[in-house]
Amino acid sequence: MGKLDNKVVVITGGNSGIGLSTARRFVAEGAHVYITGRRKAELDKASAEIGGNVTAVQGDVTSSEDLDRLFEIVRTQHGRVDILFANAGAGHVEPLGHITEAAFDQTFAVNVKGTVFTVQKALPLMSEGASIILTGSTTGSMGTPAFSIYSATKAAIRNLARSWALDLKGTGIRVNVLSPGATDTPGLQGVAEAAGGTTLYDGLVAQTPAGRIAEPAEIASVALFLASDDSAVMTGSEVFADGGMAQV
Ligand code: NAP
Repeated sequence: MGKLDNKVVVITGGNSGIGLSTARRFVAEGAHVYITGRRKAELDKASAEIGGNVTAVQGDVTSSEDLDRLFEIVRTQHGRVDILFANAGAGHVEPLGHITEAAFDQTFAVNVKGTVFTVQKALPLMSEGASIILTGSTTGSMGTPAFSIYSATKAAIRNLARSWALDLKGTGIRVNVLSPGATDTPGLQGVAEAAGGTTLYDGLVAQTPAGRIAEPAEIASVALFLASDDSAVMTGSEVFADGGMAQV
């Protein structure tokens, strides 16, 4: 018996990194998982790799039409969402003095607006016992050079969960933040390249009490905890899966 038998799950940003690893784990635990992302080729690859019990829906979380189409597909096929992992996210490396309006708008659009409307549009399909997980970050609670805008979006995510836990009072729907530290994904690899190569990884390892970068599967294990009834008493919380990075 799996921990998520017969659960219907939506994971945005499910074709790569943390989202893909979580999709793989949730399917192994008995769920049917919808994965989303903008890149069709990555979605097809992810679906093939997961094998069964996965449905890929191409879409951009900043597009209202794409989100409507996603949840209409879920409603038609399954009629409900038990677990929503609002995980799609991205950031740009730009120090103060070099912050561009384009990067600011895109980062807030994907990380904040995308999360808000993903959750809001999923809500009519959710009921008592459902779990919403938002992807935060250690950097939402820390200062990180050249990463202030991304960090500010993740600080916003933290407050969304606090406020939504109150908005959801009485519904039996829970909302929590999962905040990874440095995790070895294509996303972090891209940030490392933009920040000048492997020195970023070395710096992150030095900064982390665990002395290493996390694997996406380790974040997926914590997502499983927040998705399952093992965390039934938790809402409005932030769980760090960060090797201690933001704890010391
Ligand atoms: P990743 O491998 O780059 O995955 C990011 C995912 O988000 C991809 O599936 C991407 O798919 C999707 N995405 C990006 N923009 C999107 C948009 N506009 N609409 C729909 N999907 C979009 O990076 P990751 O590290 O796994 O990141 C996952 C989450 O963890 C993000 O919220 C990130 O901020 C957070 N996080 C990561 C780390 C880390 O060290 N890796 C640490 C803390 C927090 P498409 O490109 O196909 O759209």
